[in-house]
Amino acid sequence: MSFKRRGLTAVALGACLVLVPLHTGSAQPSAQKSPQRELVEITAVDAQQRTRVADTGVDVLGVDGDRMTVVAEPNHRSLLTATGLPTRSLGDANAELAALGKVQFADPKPGEVGARDFPSGYTGYHNYAEMVAELRQTVTDHPTLVTLRSIGKSYEGRDQWAIKLSDNPSVDEAEPEVLFTCNQHAREHLTVEMCLHIIKRYTDGYATNPTIKSLVDSREIWIVPSVNPDGAEYDIAAGTLRAWRKNRQPNSTSVGTDPNRNWGYKWGCCGGSSGSGSSETYRGTAAFSAPETRNIRDFVGSRVVGGVQQIKANIDWHTYSELILWPYGYTYSDTDTGLNATQASVFSTLGRRMAALNGYTPQQASDLYITDGAVDDWMWGTHKIWSYTFEMYPSSGGGTSGFYPRDTVIAAQTARNDSAVELFLGYADCPPRIISSTC
Ligand SMILES: [Zn+2]
Repeated sequence: MSFKRRGLTAVALGACLVLVPLHTGSAQPSAQKSPQRELVEITAVDAQQRTRVADTGVDVLGVDGDRMTVVAEPNHRSLLTATGLPTRSLGDANAELAALGKVQFADPKPGEVGARDFPSGYTGYHNYAEMVAELRQTVTDHPTLVTLRSIGKSYEGRDQWAIKLSDNPSVDEAEPEVLFTCNQHAREHLTVEMCLHIIKRYTDGYATNPTIKSLVDSREIWIVPSVNPDGAEYDIAAGTLRAWRKNRQPNSTSVGTDPNRNWGYKWGCCGGSSGSGSSETYRGTAAFSAPETRNIRDFVGSRVVGGVQQIKANIDWHTYSELILWPYGYTYSDTDTGLNATQASVFSTLGRRMAALNGYTPQQASDLYITDGAVDDWMWGTHKIWSYTFEMYPSSGGGTSGFYPRDTVIAAQTARNDSAVELFLGYADCPPRIISSTC
């Protein structure tokens, strides 16, 4: 229930900052026309200030310490100015994206699959077809370790594939289950690679690495490499990288629901999502209005066996900012209904231990800014699944380019999480063991 002491300190510091208005009408140099989509860096020293920024409806790209990088459209400018927070223009967001890479083929027709691929410099990333091919190849190579199934169709009809990784994978054994989910947000392509990396490491390494063998033998590991395949395909379909975040479901004013504001625990409760269809954090018309979240909800629900949820722990992978986050996101309080002080201590202790291994910054989700309808709040609030959100590389990216590190970083930035994932899987049967508590 207590508020973070850190926030109070930060408010005091904030008084020392020099305020720089964004674009205040007459103050704006007449020679410079504001771009339609402007990259803006904002100094926001605590979660309350960052929540005020997120509340304006800007697209929050990343947070690095007290600096937020956002994309502001014209209707956001007066709102950002009204926050009173120091802002600095980083230029045209579209120009930055366009500079990243051009694809040489034309925009495919609606529903067409197959012509889409990453541009030069990014071809090491898996598009949807390549991802499916790799999953199928894994089944061929390791039939005694994995099974592959679709847990449902996206809005545009793509399968959301899930790998089950365990010894005797075709049998539902009495072993604790773990769920890794990737690519809820379309443009966060590095997360697809993270899920594929986990699959590869725990299959190829099984015969030779005793730790891997022991974890695979004693757990049932579910991996969904692309929760949002429509958005991911759309992001690379047009000949430029689009920085698309949401799914591709039309709404009353625009296209796309933010899957990670659409989960049904405290959905839309607390100013941590948007009711506007054009917003990047549009929460949808109702909890689970997006087929992509509904399918995961139903899958997780199907793992309640004999009244007991078999999935004990979850990591949902995102980019970027290099953070490890845990519930709740909808409230600044450390504890609330369904989350007591001991449980908060488990989340925090395991989160910090993992962060010590990968160099990310560990914090409760709301220490960043308030979100509601996010997956980790639902996993914990509804199913008591110990659920973390990892925001991967880079720690700061300057803007939309942060979503598009070149494919040369994939190997290092996925392997960087090996020890943290190993620790996570090791405690997944009963995370409270990490504070010598019981399950
Ligand atoms: Zn994300």
